[in-house]
Amino acid sequence: MTAPITQDVLTLPRKLPVSDKTNIIGLTRDQLRAALIAAGTPEKQAKMRLGQLWQWVYHWGVRDFALMTNLAKDYRALLADHFTIELPEVVTRQISEDGTRKYLVRIAGGHEVEVVYIPETDRGTLCISSQVGCTLTCSFCHTGTQKLVRNLTAGEIVGQVMLARDDLGEWPVQGAPKVEVRLISNIVLMGMGEPLYNFDNVRDAMKVVMDNEGIALGRRRITLSTSGVVPEIARTATEIGCLLAVSFHATTDEVRDQLVPINKRWNIATLLEALKAYPGLSNSERITFEYVMLEGVNDTKEDAHRLVKLLEGIPAKVNLIPFNEWPGAPYKRSSGNRIHAFADIIYHAGYASPIRTPRGEDIMAACGQLKSATERARKSKAAIAAEAGL
Ligand code: SAH
Ligand code: SF4
Repeated sequence: MTAPITQDVLTLPRKLPVSDKTNIIGLTRDQLRAALIAAGTPEKQAKMRLGQLWQWVYHWGVRDFALMTNLAKDYRALLADHFTIELPEVVTRQISEDGTRKYLVRIAGGHEVEVVYIPETDRGTLCISSQVGCTLTCSFCHTGTQKLVRNLTAGEIVGQVMLARDDLGEWPVQGAPKVEVRLISNIVLMGMGEPLYNFDNVRDAMKVVMDNEGIALGRRRITLSTSGVVPEIARTATEIGCLLAVSFHATTDEVRDQLVPINKRWNIATLLEALKAYPGLSNSERITFEYVMLEGVNDTKEDAHRLVKLLEGIPAKVNLIPFNEWPGAPYKRSSGNRIHAFADIIYHAGYASPIRTPRGEDIMAACGQLKSATERARKSKAAIAAEAGL
């Protein structure tokens, strides 16, 4: 691993909004409509006002009511009296030598989560968080060694998408020709936390992000990754409609119990049953099986053959993730040869088996590394404060 290239490129003042006004960000259409009426919008106008406001906020990215020029001046004032348009605060931004960007984001209460933007030639993926820390304790995941502090609100989840668009300069410019290539073309719920343990907020946030009058990312451009919270899996299809990824990682219950302890509650057979029943499952909407490659733990040819057997009857692709090491991690990454041999067996059985290229390793932005970066950032800030005599 190389040393950080650009650390703390952007450091913004830390402030927390103290306000009794309602933050618009993250409210569903129904919630926002009700809030507009409660604030004095005549019911007959509510639908139209909602549409106008929604476009300003989510299509144009405007944060100031005064700029919403198709609303009457006194209505803009009414909005400003009752509402705010606020995102979580970006504390630091780091840019990897491979172009990956990592944002350390501060939410109300002073907690921090991380958001990672991964540019590729044909797409740009934003990896967002759903919780501060995680209640689960997968033994290879650094986030899992951090206790859950709290669930993120829908606004804090939508806010991660909006602040990344701010940083990338991705809001449309009025009067300019429509830009067809989207910098953030895909969203993955693969940051910190177990999204299915914060289902309602994740669902409401994704509804806002998918809404056609706003950010308008299609449901197939969103992938939710779960460790296997079986009772909530079907709702992902029926209530959000996005694609599903499952942190599978092992081919026997004995090994999966060790790696993904939620397996003790819902074992491989139960999980596979839920996946087979995933509503809308088809070849064009396959389930992604994530499989972290750990040397000597789950990476043999026998494992690969067992995995193929387990996948039978499920439209699936297997995403092999070379283990990303973190200080004190009890595992090592499998060798390149091992990973390729494993991938070949899966591929020859008829499943796509891409090997995920680790991105942003120099800034600890790769899968499963997200906790340590926060701690390092904290440490360096403490060090800076000490040096400054604060
Ligand atoms: N909590 C959810 C989503 C976040 S993790 C889940 O577990 O699915 C996103 C992916 O990164 C998961 O497949 C997770 O198992 C994997 N991961 C965690 N730690 C990792 C590490 N150190 N190296 C590689 N992948 C890791
Ligand atoms: Fe939580 Fe996912 Fe990490 Fe497991 S892999 S501890 S579920 S964030």
